[in-house]
Amino acid sequence: MAPTFSHTFNHPSYSGKVSFPVGLFIDGKFVDGSEGKLIDVLNPSNGKLIGQIAEASKADVDKAVAAAHTAFNESWGLKVPGFERGKLLIRLAELIEEHADALAAVEALDNGKAFAIAKSFDVTESAAVFRYYGGWADKLHGKVIETNPTKFGYTTHEPIGVVGQIIPWNFPFMMAAWKLGPALACGNTVVLKPSEFTPLSALYLCQLINEAGFPHGVVNILNGYGSTVGAAIAEHMGIEKVAFTGSTLVGRSIMKAAANSNLKKVTLELGGKSPNIIFDDADIEQAIRWTAFGMFFNHGQCCCAGSRVYVQASIYDKFVEQFKAHVQTLKVGDPFDKETFQGPQVSQIQFDRIMGYIEHGKEAGATVALGGKRHGTEGYFIEPTVFTDVKPEMKIVQEEIFGPVVVLAKFEDEDDIVHQANDTVYGLAAAVFSSNVSRALTVAQRLRAGTVWVNHYNKLHPQIPFGGFKQSGIGRELGKYALANYTNVKAVQVNLTDKL
Ligand code: NAD
Repeated sequence: MAPTFSHTFNHPSYSGKVSFPVGLFIDGKFVDGSEGKLIDVLNPSNGKLIGQIAEASKADVDKAVAAAHTAFNESWGLKVPGFERGKLLIRLAELIEEHADALAAVEALDNGKAFAIAKSFDVTESAAVFRYYGGWADKLHGKVIETNPTKFGYTTHEPIGVVGQIIPWNFPFMMAAWKLGPALACGNTVVLKPSEFTPLSALYLCQLINEAGFPHGVVNILNGYGSTVGAAIAEHMGIEKVAFTGSTLVGRSIMKAAANSNLKKVTLELGGKSPNIIFDDADIEQAIRWTAFGMFFNHGQCCCAGSRVYVQASIYDKFVEQFKAHVQTLKVGDPFDKETFQGPQVSQIQFDRIMGYIEHGKEAGATVALGGKRHGTEGYFIEPTVFTDVKPEMKIVQEEIFGPVVVLAKFEDEDDIVHQANDTVYGLAAAVFSSNVSRALTVAQRLRAGTVWVNHYNKLHPQIPFGGFKQSGIGRELGKYALANYTNVKAVQVNLTDKL
């Protein structure tokens, strides 16, 4: 019998018992792992065991891929019209909305994000993503292409087949939605691996996938470790495309595995060290609020976090003081407390990694203007941390910390800031704050980043693409652009009158 998750929540924001199976989800059923192993799932708020889930092995990847192939050929792919696929995606969006409280509670327990934010952002936006792609499913047509009177040429956009998807722990539910939405709309079947740190909300989703009525085998979800299950997906000969979100290091290994196996198509959404630029003509109060949100939202665990903040020299001192005062108003604490903005980091590993960066910053001569310590006595909480007096070559300025740690630095003029902002191997996101629209758009044009926010930060929409320049990735998620990741273009050429 596959294990079951059961937890009774008893908080002012949410109370109730949530139970669901936590086996491997293969061919529409929850099953045990073939080696009978289990993974411990820990609560990041106190480090205690929440429960255990089944662990997949390479053999289970083979089973899931086989189920996905059968479903692709017999009950999905070209067998189901786009309109029907769209209806199922929209039904799934409705079910997610109906289960929003329980899903948000599971996400808060497993990942540590604030319940209110998990509900209003992660869960609500995930439903919006499924609904958005449900709308696309019957609008995926090719083109008629004119050549000469003897020829009728057209293209069709076909699903690729079985796709592998590997997702991280920072937005466990939303990353599943970003990956599954476009893949299913286009008619692919999926083998998805959540992060071993945050497996629960994806397993809850499996129940809803069955309830919505998706044919069995269209979505298969395997929990397991990256080095076994993730690697097996990346190198599998039966998987024709792999989509990955996570670290740049693992992104490289996915590309290598794809190259060394069947040259499967690869899309990657990787890290960032995104610059957030405040000109002296910006609305300072708004810039401060967005800057704090851009950095500390999701405990700094956002690939697009605005972790390098550059402030024009003439307003730098004023900005630093007001920014510190605002950050001190952000409540760190219990994810189920209604006032909480920042919960714990996801794991002991991440906690240690972030504290290591903080120590490194101090040793390198940067000033801790705020925070810099553990918050509380249990769990993986870290105080929002602000560094000043930083130098461009410091590790805390160059490397992705993936925690609540921001560096503040000065710039003089447009040329100076464009140079400093682009001085990174990454290119995921950036922001410009200015009341001068020409200046903001000129700088936006010169920044080497896949997203540039003007006068706000960290806002995402299902309709607007997201992805990276440089080492921040390959391909785009969200929007119409994501559909290209999941379709093969077929050109059909019809000879009308040409004789050989
Ligand atoms: P990671 O890249 O190791 O893990 C992401 C996913 O990849 C997980 O599901 C993991 O199990 C899987 N994975 C790990 N090794 C694999 C392998 N060899 N083959 C296939 N899949 C594999 O990320 P992490 O260790 O959880 O976090 C480390 C750092 O990665 C973070 O500190 C942060 O800098 C970055 N990160 C970025 C994002 C993002 O959204 N871009 C998300 C999470 C982590």
